[in-house]
Amino acid sequence: MKITVDQDACCGSGLCVIRADRVFDQREEDGVVMLLDEAPSPEDFEDVRAAAAGCPTGAIRLAE
Ligand code: SF4
Repeated sequence: MKITVDQDACCGSGLCVIRADRVFDQREEDGVVMLLDEAPSPEDFEDVRAAAAGCPTGAIRLAE
């Protein structure tokens, strides 16, 4: 799995961080997503898929 995020599309909701905090974080100043791990381990795949599916702006893209 390879993850990319579109920081321009992110609205800073933080839902991805709630679902997969080993992979996503938020910038302190404005809450925009930061990608901590663009190639997560398989144990995180389910959480990452949930984060991508639940992102309200479609800012998370997965290549599997
Ligand atoms: S769920 Fe989407 S919009 Fe919300 S912080 Fe994460 S990437 Fe940004």
